[in-house]
Formats: sequence, C-alpha cells, structure tokens
Amino acid sequence: MKHYDIAVIGAGSGGLVAATSAHRRGAKVALLEKNKIGGECTHSGCVPSKTLISSARAYQATKHTEARRLKELERKNARLKKIVADLSLDNEILKEALSKK
Ligand SMILES: Cc1cc2nc3c(=O)[nH]c(=O)nc-3n(C[C@H](O)[C@H](O)[C@H](O)COP(=O)(O)OP(=O)(O)OC[C@H]3O[C@@H](n4cnc5c(N)ncnc54)[C@H](O)[C@@H]3O)c2cc1C
Repeated sequence: MKHYDIAVIGAGSGGLVAATSAHRRGAKVALLEKNKIGGECTHSGCVPSKTLISSARAYQATKHTEARRLKELERKNARLKKIVADLSLDNEILKEALSKK
C-alpha cells in the first residue's frame, strides 16, 4: 500500500496549486481527479470563454473592415464611371469638331 502525506481532491486551479506547492515543499502528494485535470478554468471557464470572446471580436473587426472596403470600392467605381463618361463626351465633341473641318 502506498503512503502519502497529503491527498488533494480535485485537479482544478485550486487543487493544482495546492498539490504542486505541497510537492515543492517535499510532501508526497496524491492528487485525485474524477474528470479532467485542469478543472473548470481550463475546460469550460476562463480559457474557452476568453477564446470565444477573442474570436467574436476578430469576426466583428473583419466584418467592419469588409463593409468599409466595399464602400471604398463603390466610391472608386462611381469615380471611374464618371471619368469614362467624361472621356466619351470629350471624344464625341472631338469627333464633331473634326468632321466640321
Ligand atoms: C465562464 C467562466 C469564465 C471564467 N473566467 C475566469 C477568469 O477569466 N479568471 C479567473 O480567475 N476565473 C475565471 N473563472 C472562474 C474559474 O474557472 C474558477 O474560479 C476556478 O476554476 C475555480 O477553481 P477550483 O480549483 O476551485 O475548482 P474547479 O476548477 O471547479 O476544479 C474542481 C475539480 O475538482 C474535481 N472534483 C470535484 N469533485 C471531485 C471528487 N469527488 N473527486 C475527484 N475530483 C473531483 C472536478 O472534476 C474539477 O476538475 C471563470 C468561470 C467561468 C464559469
């Protein structure tokens, strides 16, 4: 039968700190976990929630950037159309002037 100085129940943030601190001080530690090592913070709390928030922010930023680029393209397209229309008009005026000579 194995002997331990301390048994820590639960390997979440609290249990992991308790177990490693005791181990560093020379105690023989048994760490008991019924589910996954890391507990709530690693698997459903801090880490996943921050990842979700960060992904949502990145998505939001991308959406705004795309909308801004689209407006910019529409503005450039309208300017190009005007330039082409002006050039066509100049061309017609030139043709008319040449035909009179
Ligand atoms: C959405 C969300 C976001 C969060 N964000 C943050 C944050 O940004 N910053 C922050 O500091 N905190 C945050 N928290 C809080 C943080 O997750 C908790 O404070 C922290 O996990 C508590 O750690 P713990 O070790 O006390 O408990 P837990 O992490 O719950 O660990 C307990 C462990 O014990 C195990 N266990 C239970 N009973 C037994 C048993 N009988 N036998 C064996 N094992 C057992 C469990 O399976 C679990 O792994 C957040 C929580 C949530 C829900």
